[in-house]
Amino acid sequence: MSGVDVDIITHEILVIGAGLAGQMAALEASRYSDTAVLSKVHPLRSHSVAAQGGVNAPLGNVAPDDWEKHAFDTVKGSDYLADQDSVEILCKNAMTGILEIDSYGAIFDRLPDGRLAQRPFGGGSFPRTCYAGDATGHELMNTLYGELMKNNVRFYEEWLATSLIVEDDICRGMIAINLKNGEAAYFRSKAVIVATGGCGRVYERTTNSHQSTGDGIAMAYRAGAAVCDMEFVQFHPTTLVGTNILISEAARGEGGVLLNAVHERFMERYAPAMKELAPRDIVVRSIQTEINEGRGLGEKGREFVELDLRMLGKDILSQKLPQVYKLARDFANMDAAEECLPVQPAQHYTMGGIRTGNSADSTIRGLFACGECACVSVHGANRLGGNSLAETLVFGKIAGAAALGYIRRKELARIPKAIIERELSSINALFTGGDEHEAEIKKELQKVMWNMVGIFRNDADLTKALKAIRELKAKYANIGVRDECRIFNTELMQAIELGFLLDNAEMIAFGALLRRESRGSHFRTDHPLRDDTNWLRHTILTMKNGTTHADYEPIRITRFRPEARTY
Ligand SMILES: Cc1cc2nc3c(=O)[nH]c(=O)nc-3n(C[C@H](O)[C@H](O)[C@H](O)COP(=O)(O)OP(=O)(O)OC[C@H]3O[C@@H](n4cnc5c(N)ncnc54)[C@H](O)[C@@H]3O)c2cc1C
Repeated sequence: MSGVDVDIITHEILVIGAGLAGQMAALEASRYSDTAVLSKVHPLRSHSVAAQGGVNAPLGNVAPDDWEKHAFDTVKGSDYLADQDSVEILCKNAMTGILEIDSYGAIFDRLPDGRLAQRPFGGGSFPRTCYAGDATGHELMNTLYGELMKNNVRFYEEWLATSLIVEDDICRGMIAINLKNGEAAYFRSKAVIVATGGCGRVYERTTNSHQSTGDGIAMAYRAGAAVCDMEFVQFHPTTLVGTNILISEAARGEGGVLLNAVHERFMERYAPAMKELAPRDIVVRSIQTEINEGRGLGEKGREFVELDLRMLGKDILSQKLPQVYKLARDFANMDAAEECLPVQPAQHYTMGGIRTGNSADSTIRGLFACGECACVSVHGANRLGGNSLAETLVFGKIAGAAALGYIRRKELARIPKAIIERELSSINALFTGGDEHEAEIKKELQKVMWNMVGIFRNDADLTKALKAIRELKAKYANIGVRDECRIFNTELMQAIELGFLLDNAEMIAFGALLRRESRGSHFRTDHPLRDDTNWLRHTILTMKNGTTHADYEPIRITRFRPEARTY
C-alpha cells in the first residue's frame, strides 16, 4: 500500500492533452508502451478541432517546392529567431506527417489528378497549405482519434491535471482531478508528455477556446522547467468584431482583400509585394495602425476594418470556405457573398512555451512537451499560418518516440508521498480560502494584457502591466471557491486555471519588458527596430525561489543568415 490517501493510477507514459500534438504523441508511444491520455475536455473538443485553414508541407503539388524553401520561409517569417536545425526537422518531416494522416483516411481536398490540393497562406512563397475545406483541424482530429480508439489507447476524459510531480529533477507523474466527481488521483508514470496547448485566454480578445489557459506551461514552470520566448504572442489579423471568432487566413489565401473606411486596399502601402498574404505580424500592425489613426470603421473609425470576400461569390465560398461563410452568417448575421465582414485583430497563438530540444525533451528528465505548449523553437518571433498543425504532427510523433526511448529499462520510482500531500492540500485550500473571486481577477487580467501587453508595447505600459499582474497574483493567493459541490465544479476548475493564466501572463509581460527591440510579433514603440547585435537570442525563464529569473540562449543558425525582412 502506498500510505497516501489518494487513488494511484499507473501507466508507463502519460500524455496530458488530447489535441493533435497529444494524440500524435500517444499514437506513437502506445505502439510499444502502456500509454494513457488525459484531457480536461472531451478529446474531440480540444482546440485543435477549431483549426480551419490548413497544414503546411512542401509537397510541390501546385508549384515546385522543397523542404529548403519551406525552411527559408519559416525562418524569415520567424524574424530569424527560430532555431534553424529544428526548422529543418519540421520541414523535412511535414510531408510524411500529412501522408501518414492521409493514409489513415483523412479526407483532404484534392486536385483533379488525385494529389492533395494546396492553397497559398501568409508568408509562404508557394501554395503549400494542404486543407480539408476550412475545417482541417476537425478532419485531422477525427481521423487520429479513430486510430487511437483502434489501438485501444486509454483516455481519461474530463480530468484536469493540476501539477507535475518532480523529485530529484525527474518527472514522476502528475496530480489530476476527475471533474466528474471531484476526486483527485496521483498518476504515476515513467514519463510525462505535456501537450496542453496555448494560453490565449490571458487576453481579452482571442480566437482561442476557453480551455486555452496555458496549464502545461505553468505546471512545467512551477516544477522547475525552463520556459522560452513567452513575449512572442501571435495576434491574428482577421477576427469577427464582437466575438473575435477567427476568420481563417484561407479567406485571404483564396483572394479576400482588406479595406479601410475609404475602401482603400491599404495593405498595398504596407507590404507591396505580398499585400494581405504578408506574415501575420505585419498584417496585424497594418490593420491596427489604420484603426489607431482613425481610418477604420465603427466608432470614430477606431474599431475595425473590412474583409471583402464578395469577389469569390457564393459558390467558391460554399465550396472552399464553408465554415467562414457559416460563421459570418451565424455570428455576425452577414452574407459574406454580399457584404464586407467587420474584422479586427485578436490574440491567436502562443509562440513561447516549455523549452525543448529537438527530441521534445524539456530541461527536466522524463518530462517531454510538444505542440503549442512547447517551444522547440520552430516559430521564433512569428509563426506562419499552417505551420502549427505541421508542428503538432511532426513533434507530436517525435515526443512519443523520445518518451519510448527514455522509459526503456526505467523502473517506476517510489511514491513521493510528501510532494503528493503538499499538492493535494493546495487544492483543498481553495475551498477554505478567502473572499477574492476568480471571475473578477480573470477579467482584470485579460484587460491588462490586452491594453498593455498587446500589439504595440512600450516600457511604461509593460512596467505597469507587470505590477498589475503581480498585484492580481497577490489577490489570487486569497481566492476562495464558494461552490462546494464536487460534481463538475467549474468554479474550482476555473480557479485552478486562473492560477496558470497568471503565471503565463507574468512570463509574457516580464519577457516583453526585458526585450528592448522589435522582432516579429513583439513590437516595442520605444525600440522600433530589430537589434541582431544584442537580441538575436532566446529568452529563457525559470522559477527560482518563487520569482521569475531570466537567462538568454543564442539562436541556432545553420543556413540562413539574418537579413532585412521585406514582403
Ligand atoms: C481558431 C483557430 C484556428 C486555427 N487554425 C489553424 C490552421 O488552420 N493551421 C494551423 O497550422 N494552425 C491553426 N491554429 C493553431 C493550431 O490549431 C493549434 O496551435 C494546435 O492545434 C494546437 O494543438 P495542441 O495539440 O498543441 O493543443 P490543443 O489542441 O489546444 O489541445 C490541448 C489539449 O490539452 C488538454 N489540456 C489542457 N490543459 C489541461 C489540463 N490541465 N489537464 C488536462 N488536460 C489539459 C485539453 O483538454 C486539450 O485536449 C488555429 C488555432 C485556432 C485557435
